[in-house]
Amino acid sequence: MDKLGLKRDIDLALHLPLRYDDETRITPIAQAREGEPVQVEGVVQEARIELRPRRQLVVRLADASGVLVLRFLNFYPSHQKALAAGARVRVRGEPRGGFFGREMVHPQFKAVDEGTPLATALTPVYPTSAQLPQAYLRKAVASALARAPLQELLPAELLPPGLPPLREALQWLHHPPPDAALPALEDRSHPAWQRLKFEELLAQQLSQLAAQRERARLAAPALQARRGGLHERLLATLPFGLTEAQRRVSEEIAQDLGRTQPMHRLLQGDVGAGKTVVAALAAAVAIDAGWQCALMAPTEILAEQHFAKLVQWLEPLVQQDHGGVAWLTGSRKGRARRQMVERVASGEATLVVGTHAVIEQDVHFAKLGLAIIDEQHRFGVAQRLALLHKLSGQQLEPHLLMMTATPIPRTLAMTYFADLALSTIDQLPPGRTPVLTKVFDDARRPQVIARIADEVAQGRQVYWVCPLIEESEKLDLQNATETHQQLSAALPGVMVGLLHGRMPAAEKSAVMALFKGGEMAVLVATTVIEVGVDVPNASLMVIEHAERFGLSQLHQLRGRVGRGATASVCVLLYAGPLSPTAKDRLRAMADTTDGFEIARRDLEIRGPGEFMGARQSGEALLRFADLAEDAPLLQHARRIAPLLLAQHPGAARAHVARWLDTRADFMKA
Ligand code: ADP
Ligand code: MG
Repeated sequence: MDKLGLKRDIDLALHLPLRYDDETRITPIAQAREGEPVQVEGVVQEARIELRPRRQLVVRLADASGVLVLRFLNFYPSHQKALAAGARVRVRGEPRGGFFGREMVHPQFKAVDEGTPLATALTPVYPTSAQLPQAYLRKAVASALARAPLQELLPAELLPPGLPPLREALQWLHHPPPDAALPALEDRSHPAWQRLKFEELLAQQLSQLAAQRERARLAAPALQARRGGLHERLLATLPFGLTEAQRRVSEEIAQDLGRTQPMHRLLQGDVGAGKTVVAALAAAVAIDAGWQCALMAPTEILAEQHFAKLVQWLEPLVQQDHGGVAWLTGSRKGRARRQMVERVASGEATLVVGTHAVIEQDVHFAKLGLAIIDEQHRFGVAQRLALLHKLSGQQLEPHLLMMTATPIPRTLAMTYFADLALSTIDQLPPGRTPVLTKVFDDARRPQVIARIADEVAQGRQVYWVCPLIEESEKLDLQNATETHQQLSAALPGVMVGLLHGRMPAAEKSAVMALFKGGEMAVLVATTVIEVGVDVPNASLMVIEHAERFGLSQLHQLRGRVGRGATASVCVLLYAGPLSPTAKDRLRAMADTTDGFEIARRDLEIRGPGEFMGARQSGEALLRFADLAEDAPLLQHARRIAPLLLAQHPGAARAHVARWLDTRADFMKA
């Protein structure tokens, strides 16, 4: 049960049924209708094993009204024993029309005596795993429900009117009476459901408010650029002028950095909007002020590729009189790593760039003033927390800047990140031509390859992306390798490279260097190039099995082309038949290149839980409530949260503890 996250009694009490079985009544066999699940009771007339069309157990069950055939394609000796002629059984299943009259295939059954009492409430069916049988879980939940401390914590006058007490609501949801309105249960509009959702939303609002107040009490170093310092010199050496949007967000960030309260800001901007230079400017301010800056990216190749530019801009300036750059990534091990770690601890390295390796146990910062996390949604919540915890040893908190190309819709931002400041780059650098997106059946692959030859002949470069999905990693890798061979054969004289996650880091860097340098014209890659790679000369991207990618992933990938002035094309190859959601995704890609519109559609297709990356962290932020549907409850929770904190702080704390337990932390990350 630990695996399902069911540790405390309250967790079990909150483990709600997926659906209910009705064992409160028995339907006469003659009245059981096709396709409607029913429970019938009868006596076995005959049970035999048939061999055709395949081995199966066939049982004829009769009650006073008629006969029903039960068919078991998989069965054990225990089945035969329990279903021997003369046995009285209660059977639940869906009758369907069979060749020899009505039958049930693989019904559930149990032996009963005549007059065995019926259930008095609907039977809950819980989400569970294969190792944990339903019957066991039912017992565990029932006794936990009886034990769990579910006394009312909230003053009745603050609750929305008409909702039952918590214990009553849960009792009802686990064991609804036989006459319960199932539609209200299913669409979660029943007052018992409303009570539960309200509790959850309130806990979330309370913990946000508490985190916000806690953060307001923390002190951070006020960071300011020096006249003639790094920041100024960086601006002067940039090969381009900032866009209006970049200037605005840089100013917002600089304002925050100058305060003695830690910044907690999310910088969002579409792929290619130019977030890196904004990050570099922020880093320059921190270093100027005599503090360290840490930059984290989710993968090694990203850290290397993505920050290469930033380091290229900053390093010459940093090295002059600011100690220099330390790289911390997974592949830097042993002595090299120890040296880096020492330079970070002594404060000699002022710019620290890397992956998760930055937050490992042995890394201590002398004077961290600013932490920047790129593609923050790809870091698990737990990792973001680790970073914050790591820094809590210092006298002063560092400022935190998170960056994402996946914009957060406003409603979500309001609810989850009440105290997160948002900066948005809503403008692309000048001279970009929008990418044209085409969706093709895989059968048109030869045409696509001919197109590649054209592009290469004009001196352009091409990405070919193959999916890499964990469950089938081996197969996918084989697929990428085959595609690589196919393209190499079809494009004689053209250098075609292969890049995948299993390659040693050095080899990856070598391939990327060839591609960046322009010698390699075509790069076949698994999703490792998803974010951050910058090769302006690449004008064509082919995504194989596009139907297997998520929408925001596709958008991120597509952002790798269209970075130069030439018109670029993105070809989405799919292998049919397409599921409706896959169809929606591909259509959205063809319809728009606007990251905000894509995010909106993504939310529509997937729902907010997944959107927030909750899946990766294994913790859905909201289990019961739905932001869109439960807006009135959310409003109420927002209104009473400050009242509750002010007037009933004890109840507020107890409520958050009951609901969030360890998850209270997650709200702060
Ligand atoms: P992202 O927001 O996706 O991280 P990058 O920071 O990688 O985008 O920027 C994409 C490309 O645009 C890079 O090649 C970068 O050097 C370039 N760039 C950024 N800002 C400007 C600008 N103001 N004018 C011209 N090019 C820019
Ligand atoms: Mg980027």
